Amino acid sequence: MTRVFNFSPGPSALPEPVLRQAAEEMLDWHGTGVSVMEMSHRSPAFMGIAAEAQALLRELLGVPGSHRVLFMQGGALAENALVPMNLMGGHAGADYIDTGWWSGKSIAEARRYGMVNVAASSAGNAGSGYTHVPPRDTWQLDPQAAYVHICSNETIGGVQYAQTPDVGNVPLVADVSSEILSRPLDVANYGLIYAGAQKNIGPAGLTIVMVREDLLVPERTLPGLPTAFNYRVVADNDSMYNTPPTYAIYIAGLVFQWIKAQGGVEAMAARNAEKAALLYGAIDGPGSSGFYRCPVAVDARSKMNVVFRTPSAELDAAFVQAANARGLVQLKGHRVVGGLRASIYNAMPLAGVQALVAFMREFEAAHG
Ligand code: PMP
Repeated sequence: MTRVFNFSPGPSALPEPVLRQAAEEMLDWHGTGVSVMEMSHRSPAFMGIAAEAQALLRELLGVPGSHRVLFMQGGALAENALVPMNLMGGHAGADYIDTGWWSGKSIAEARRYGMVNVAASSAGNAGSGYTHVPPRDTWQLDPQAAYVHICSNETIGGVQYAQTPDVGNVPLVADVSSEILSRPLDVANYGLIYAGAQKNIGPAGLTIVMVREDLLVPERTLPGLPTAFNYRVVADNDSMYNTPPTYAIYIAGLVFQWIKAQGGVEAMAARNAEKAALLYGAIDGPGSSGFYRCPVAVDARSKMNVVFRTPSAELDAAFVQAANARGLVQLKGHRVVGGLRASIYNAMPLAGVQALVAFMREFEAAHG
């Protein structure tokens, strides 16, 4: 068996101890004689697994009692519709901050449900933009908005908010799909947070929603909201209104245990900062030759998705191929931006980034 260093943006590498434990428990979970996949979601065994996963997530992020944790399905793109459908009612519209591909998808979807005010955008001139977060003092926020939506980490552009923006009394909503649990998150400052699980948490199919309970009122819902996607219904049924993604919840619970054993979210943040500093340093840090470039403004560089390029598209392609042969996989940039991208989520060990940096030096020596 050979494991590679997997830089996939998502679904992404999971901690090896988690995969090993899941393999060991696959056929017989804790003497029950069945796999977690084969359990009723209402069985005491599975209810315990789900309750523990939720408790661990609450502990890791310090989720306050004001907020409910929901285990849903549909991914972040479904949330792009479910957020307005659950929260826009009784309001003229919502504010959105445009920082790239994923916030753009959120904006386009929300427009199907109500008025969207793009309060700030880093789009810039054609092709040149999405390399920074618009400064907070340039945002044209509407104090009557239903909420303000941001994408805290743009997985494709490699742009990440350095800190939570202050938006006053209007609830802040964030797509944190590609950074959840990578650094501390002050959940109390948000009205709602959502994340697909398939990067830092577990298998695709599970979507995490954390929502301030006082926002879950009928006046905020829009007509036509499916019952299974009504946050109030999901919350009142402890995420068991219908069958939740049971196996994904179980793996998520193992990942939460692993994060806790690593020292929690603060420890993950320190490790992630070290990995990112090493990689950005190799790209264009002091002493670098200019062979590699990163387009993102230094204060907005993502610690999860590091985008960079060589001097040409041909060399980018050669880099991906040669890296692959060395067990450094999934380094091709997203098709909409090209170039290279290394996704270095929680489960990527420092050794993986060290191996990538060593390979970058070699590749430069051969092609620079
Ligand atoms: N938002 C962000 C920030 C993402 O990275 C992704 C997936 N890469 C999505 C939304 C879409 O998520 P899903 O495929 O789970 O709907």
